[in-house]
Amino acid sequence: MKKKDRYTHFIEYFSKNQPNAVTELHYSNPFELLVAVILSAQCTDKRINQVTPVLFKQFPNPEALSAATAEEVFNYIRSVSYPNNKAKHLVGMANMLVNDFNGVVPSDINELQKLPGVGRKTANVIASVVFDAPAIAVDTHVFRVSNRLGLTTNAKTPLAVEKQLMLFLPEDVMGIAHHWLILHGRYVCLARNPKCETCPINWFCKYYEKNHTETALLKAEALKAKKLKDASKKEKLNKISASLKERAVKSQNQ
Ligand code: SF4
Repeated sequence: MKKKDRYTHFIEYFSKNQPNAVTELHYSNPFELLVAVILSAQCTDKRINQVTPVLFKQFPNPEALSAATAEEVFNYIRSVSYPNNKAKHLVGMANMLVNDFNGVVPSDINELQKLPGVGRKTANVIASVVFDAPAIAVDTHVFRVSNRLGLTTNAKTPLAVEKQLMLFLPEDVMGIAHHWLILHGRYVCLARNPKCETCPINWFCKYYEKNHTETALLKAEALKAKKLKDASKKEKLNKISASLKERAVKSQNQ
């Protein structure tokens, strides 16, 4: 199947089945989303959603967060991964927002990346989710699922995946495609044990095509080998039985 066709099927399937896919992080404004996305690096959305309600209540805006110390913030996020670094990043990010951006989350990807704790992936999430910009954030799920589906070819880095996806995806689905890939990776196309047999899009998945074909060939080979073995066993048994019959006839004639 051509790559272009895989994209067509991908867009058609998810547009029909997940037309309203959104982030699973809870937030009510751009600042809260920024905080939640910074916290979510190498952590689950479920865990982040457990800590953010109290955190947002305590530090409802950049000004409040910028006035806090990293130690204070740490107490609210101690159960997430890398709480020390993330606490420092959050306070640093809030300070820069207040001092350089009038307390407003910028929409430009390059400006966003100046904020402490904000890399390309986080900047793309904010640009796409908050500002509807044609950007696609590549996290571990997007990276893996795009490669497996065959939407990307030999893309070895998140940036390479991002570039290839941007080349083929129409602008109006770039933002939502990020959520489609994440959700599919989170619940179906798992890293270690992808649920390929029940995956609703296995019919246009490159990984499935390759592995399914290989598995089918191996199974056929094994069956053939078993049949040959059985046939040769049967032949041997027939010979033994014929020779026994021959001996029995001879002894009767003596
Ligand atoms: S068929 Fe398997 S590898 Fe392909 S998308 Fe589905 S779960 Fe992932």
